[in-house]
Amino acid sequence: METTGGPGGRRFDLVIVGAGFAGLYMLYRARQQGLDAVVIERGSEVGGTWYWNRYPGARCDIESVDYCYSFSPELVQEWDWTERYAAQPEILAYLQHVADRFDLRDDIVFERTLVRADWGEAERSWTLRLDDGSHLSCTHVVMATGNLSAVKPPSFDGLDDFAGEWFHTGMWPHHAVDWTDKTVAVIGTGSSGIQVITQVAPLARHLTVLQRTPNYSMPAHNRPLLAGELAEVRATFGERRRVCQLSDAGTPLPPPTRSAHEVTEDERRARYEEGWQRGGISALSGGYTDFFTEEQSNLWAQEFARDKIREIVTDPDVADRLSPRHHIGTKRTATDTGYFEMYNRANVDLVDVRDDPISHIEASGIRLESGRLVEVDVIVFAIGFDAMTGALADIDIRGTDGLTLETAWADGPRTYLGLQTAGFPNLFMITGPQSPGVLSNMVISIEQHVDFVADCLAYLREHDLDRIEASEEAQDGWVVHTRELAEGTLYLQARSWYLGANIPGKPRVFMPYVGGCGRYRTECETVVDNSYRGFVLGTPTDAEDHSDG
Ligand code: NAP
Repeated sequence: METTGGPGGRRFDLVIVGAGFAGLYMLYRARQQGLDAVVIERGSEVGGTWYWNRYPGARCDIESVDYCYSFSPELVQEWDWTERYAAQPEILAYLQHVADRFDLRDDIVFERTLVRADWGEAERSWTLRLDDGSHLSCTHVVMATGNLSAVKPPSFDGLDDFAGEWFHTGMWPHHAVDWTDKTVAVIGTGSSGIQVITQVAPLARHLTVLQRTPNYSMPAHNRPLLAGELAEVRATFGERRRVCQLSDAGTPLPPPTRSAHEVTEDERRARYEEGWQRGGISALSGGYTDFFTEEQSNLWAQEFARDKIREIVTDPDVADRLSPRHHIGTKRTATDTGYFEMYNRANVDLVDVRDDPISHIEASGIRLESGRLVEVDVIVFAIGFDAMTGALADIDIRGTDGLTLETAWADGPRTYLGLQTAGFPNLFMITGPQSPGVLSNMVISIEQHVDFVADCLAYLREHDLDRIEASEEAQDGWVVHTRELAEGTLYLQARSWYLGANIPGKPRVFMPYVGGCGRYRTECETVVDNSYRGFVLGTPTDAEDHSDG
């Protein structure tokens, strides 16, 4: 694939950044329309999240039969998911299969990172500079860069002095790590930490978990999928998918119909128990309509979850330290396969770094402020990501009149529908900030966004238009709308990555759209039905006028 050539280099209709779920489908749709499109991917393979997060235990928290594409009925019929929740290798294999089956690889450039993007108003094009110094240009750019792809780097003093090995869950090496006879520390107890702890505890000689905030984790009850189940899902896939698309979270679970206040305590506990036995991320949150909006409703579920931890963990002091206090769901809930049980093992210790913070790292391990040294051979940093904006912030993006995205988003991201930002014409984001993406089954949101963008590009062509930009007015309205929706919930009370609270200095702005996939889809459909209301569309003649003037 020729992509070099300086400013006079090749011009594409569309450049897609990232070859994960979003980028692959975007390329497929672009091809269908006959667009000259290319994908730029920093990894050496397709897969995005599932390429980088290959740590032991990595597994999806959405059921595999829903965490997959729907665009090809043949693909739905031919891919056999083996487990209720697919593990990372299986999802990666699925995406590799998709790339091969639809011949997508020819138009993917691997091991190249986009470092800078400049909009040229007169040329009506983006000039993109890659990390090898090459340039390419294009009419449209789609950022399929992911929401959880810019890792939060471990910035602990002394890490360079550490004599052992260390890894970050979000950029795990491709070689197998040997845990035998190793003393290991895991820092972080989010979804990644919980999965890696559960996997490594039985393998390592000793594991110390350094926990800052305990997290809620629901049992996954993962198991092999039976052939009959798969056949049934396939037979009704279209219907099931439609239910997901119109739901809040992009899953087929029936929505709750009652407030937790409408039932007796016994009924509530029975319903929570039913959810716990069913398992999955919404085991408790799917119970009542006011779960995310009303303190007491959430508190009842919290008490149930803390009781479960006390039942599982035999040492009451450890159980207490593992018991979260925040509203469930306001930080992303994990799903697990025996996580809390790990703390009953003789080779696992829990250190509360809220009480005794990490001072620094030295040759033999992690020194706490109390002076205690946690001696280890291996450190696993499961400390998360610069979520939702981090991947875009890593690229120097300059829109109209040289406006940088960094400046435009200085006080937090501002978008219209999570799809575009005013000042950055012809640049789309897939599941950007202020879209439901991260609060939903990502694949449902990704397919909807890609379809929106692909249909939009077709519309522009049909109408001889070559420029599209969110208006400031529509963007202001959307920002206010998403903020108001969030203000009606408990989400704002937690120090979460949804709010940027995990990254020092990041503006505290709640970034996802909490209105749900179904409502968001309707909003987008209304925009399209009204000739892309809120977007300003331009013709080539406008460009000539601009260059003349
Ligand atoms: P995360 O949820 O941000 O968790 C990071 C953990 O590291 C938190 O416990 C955090 O504590 C801790 N931490 C961060 N900096 C620290 C420091 N300096 N000292 C001590 N502790 C520190 O990150 P993640 O676990 O990688 O998950 C991110 C998201 O990815 C998830 O929420 C989920 O959406 C997705 N994910 C999904 C799956 C799945 O599908 N099953 C698996 C993995 C990830 P605080 O809470 O105190 O900040």
